[in-house]
Amino acid sequence: MAVHHQSVLNPATGEVIATVPGTTADQVDTAVAAAATAQRRWAAAAPADRARLLRRFAAAVDEHREELAALEVREAGHTIGNARWEAGNVRDLLDYAAGGVERLTGRQIPVAGGIDLTLLEPLGVVGVIAPWNFPLPIAAWGTAPALAAGNAVLLKPAETTPLSALRIAELALDAGLPEHLFQVLPGTGDITGSALVEHPGVAKIVFTGSTRVGKQIMARCADRVKRLTLELGGKSPNIVFADSDVDAAAAATPMSFLDNAGQDCCARTRILVQRSVYDRFIGLLAPAIASVRVGDPSDEKTEMGPLISRNQLERVRAYVPAAAPALRGSAPAGPGFWFPPTVLTEADPNSPVATEEVFGPVAVVLPFEDEADAIRLANATDYGLSGSIWTRDVGRALRVSQAVRAGNLSVNSHSSVRYCTPFGGYRQSGLGRELGPDALAAFTETKNVFMSTEA
Ligand code: NAD
Repeated sequence: MAVHHQSVLNPATGEVIATVPGTTADQVDTAVAAAATAQRRWAAAAPADRARLLRRFAAAVDEHREELAALEVREAGHTIGNARWEAGNVRDLLDYAAGGVERLTGRQIPVAGGIDLTLLEPLGVVGVIAPWNFPLPIAAWGTAPALAAGNAVLLKPAETTPLSALRIAELALDAGLPEHLFQVLPGTGDITGSALVEHPGVAKIVFTGSTRVGKQIMARCADRVKRLTLELGGKSPNIVFADSDVDAAAAATPMSFLDNAGQDCCARTRILVQRSVYDRFIGLLAPAIASVRVGDPSDEKTEMGPLISRNQLERVRAYVPAAAPALRGSAPAGPGFWFPPTVLTEADPNSPVATEEVFGPVAVVLPFEDEADAIRLANATDYGLSGSIWTRDVGRALRVSQAVRAGNLSVNSHSSVRYCTPFGGYRQSGLGRELGPDALAAFTETKNVFMSTEA
């Protein structure tokens, strides 16, 4: 099969910065065979040795943090501050997973006539398919615990952002990880991604990306009952009650949906504000939106960079009519894929911009009457990934946290992702959980063994 070369662009300038050959289905086949051999040896190694190698891998990532961050700025347009955090997050994920290797314990269950044990066995070769919006962290969310649990990993980065993943694979080898245990296979979704999904030698797929593609992958995994984790889209609410610190809520709102130019599955793009404080909130939000610094992502002061590609820019534009009433910020003109921060103030709650994932710096603000109305609006979507609740009433914070059907909520904060806490979606935002104390278990099969003491 012909090799497809992919051009990697700098989204802040539109310039080509690299060309990377795609991985063909035949090459995926070879990679799976080599990974299977490496995995058997890896699983047989002493747990302490596996943990030590993963810690060395973490240390190598730490030593190259600046270089990895610079790559993330160049190929993904992330602000340098975010990119440094992201490279550090890969280090932390590897360290945390390394700590799990020797703590991946089964159980001993009381039974009559013998002893019952559960064994947590690695799955084998795991395929990780990553999106372009957080190329480094999301690749590591799957890779670090899968390796720690004794698996081999084949990682397919997104078409637009393969460079940081390729560099991570080099660092893994430099750190002493066995050859072929962790391989990065750049390529398109329909060739390289499909080959991983279809391959009988790949035991599990960890897919992070759009709900549309996730559904297709789920259907194709069904044929082989292939294990699957899905991290998909979101349309998350930011619920501001009148009894909250409204100033703090308004001040925190811009970056709750503008971080990474809104290309964030957890972006709080539905701002729900109690009617009694609605006007005051809008009055505070307007200058906050206007003052967000949008520009060169390598400038330390920049808060928001460009969108990833021309396609994404066109997609975002299509959601926002030029004359729509909105709070607007600014964005550079000229080359690169820029769109200004935008909050639509009179969007129909049932319109596409209010119900679909835009994946750009665009939110809608909608008023609500009372707690029941807020919960109804918060749940009026097919997604269920994240959400924020702003209130000073502890009882309300707990009631609303229980009522909102989403996997990751924050109260008086917009923070939802930590390597040490579980992450994942309700409903069409996903299937399964990543990160947190149980991350390694998602890359094992549980085997139950009963041993008779009566024979
Ligand atoms: P996408 O679905 O287009 O692509 C994701 C990955 O899947 C890419 O590597 C792509 O090459 C691959 N792919 C595409 N078609 C495929 C196929 N037929 N078979 C196998 N692989 C295929 O998504 P994207 O545009 O890269 O990423 C943006 C999406 O990711 C958004 O919807 C966002 O919400 C979601 N996302 C979710 C999370 C989460 O944790 N829930 C995190 C980040 C991003």
